[in-house]
Amino acid sequence: MYSMPRSQDLEKLNILHIDMDAFYASVEERDNFNLKGKPVIVGGLSNHGIVTTANYEARKYGIHSAMPIFIARIKCPNGIYIRPRMHRYREVSREIFNILYDITSLIEQVSVDEAYLDISQLGRDPIEVSQKIKEIVMRDIGLTMSIGISYNKFLAKLASDWNKPNGIKIISQDMVPDILLPLPVKSVHGIGPKSAKKLNNIGIYTVRDLMYLTEEFLVDLFGKQGGEIYYRIRGIDNREINTERERKSLGTEITFSHDTKDKEVLKTYIRTFATEISESLKQKRLHGRTITLKIKYGDFTVKTRGRTLMEEVDDEKIIYETGVSLLDEMDLNESIRLIGLTVSNLSPSTMEQLSLFS
Ligand SMILES: [Mg+2]
Repeated sequence: MYSMPRSQDLEKLNILHIDMDAFYASVEERDNFNLKGKPVIVGGLSNHGIVTTANYEARKYGIHSAMPIFIARIKCPNGIYIRPRMHRYREVSREIFNILYDITSLIEQVSVDEAYLDISQLGRDPIEVSQKIKEIVMRDIGLTMSIGISYNKFLAKLASDWNKPNGIKIISQDMVPDILLPLPVKSVHGIGPKSAKKLNNIGIYTVRDLMYLTEEFLVDLFGKQGGEIYYRIRGIDNREINTERERKSLGTEITFSHDTKDKEVLKTYIRTFATEISESLKQKRLHGRTITLKIKYGDFTVKTRGRTLMEEVDDEKIIYETGVSLLDEMDLNESIRLIGLTVSNLSPSTMEQLSLFS
């Protein structure tokens, strides 16, 4: 299932790329037992619709994402065609990320079903960590994923793609030439179909061919991106994991369809916002100290009022009560067009994160 790296490499293999397998289709299958084993295609169902995700059964018919749905219907007339339910996918995604945040808070969420994790702080065998993640997500959510392990993001992503679905793949430093050199140029992250064509036109088909080109030549050809490509194909990628922890604030606001001065209505929104923000803080393992209420009046003037608390909080009740007491300080004689609530001054909560392994 995976190739063993030399043990001295293990400590450097800190970056995981996690990618759920055929995510939208898998969620549909999980939610509807009747779909098990059948070709499931999620996508726009109109004449101009395209395939968003096909499950592995449907891929046997040659169906893939971005294919026009009418072609998919010709190739696979017996397929089950489903309109995307984004709300549901985001819900399942949140559950998955909750599990990931139990492992580490050093997470860069790329999309609903894709993330980079930096597990250097765990001091654990990356294979053990990966197996644990797969096991828990399967047990609690019932879905499979593929995990790539390496020492930078480019290689980790390449690795997760390697043995989809349901795989774990390591790319260690000594494997880089064997893995990278034979690849077609289009599989290098940063080289799209257009760039690939440009390269093919000058006789460059594989990464091996690409290695003959100087950095200057690549920059001339692709601009700044060319420089990145030059280093990537040599296994060098210094991009950091962009954790959301670095976000300065978490908040939400709403513009009313009809202006209001009704305090009870405004309080209802503050309650909803407090619940959302609190959930989001807890999921991201963050606490905040400053709570800010923003109001926009009918004449578009904006007023904000904030309070910094003694303690860092993630509790919805405290956020709500602070929001309401800020509202009490506002002028409510004019009708209000927009209300928003933000928690800032964020810092990571100190939590036992290794509990999963004990
Ligand atoms: Mg995926």
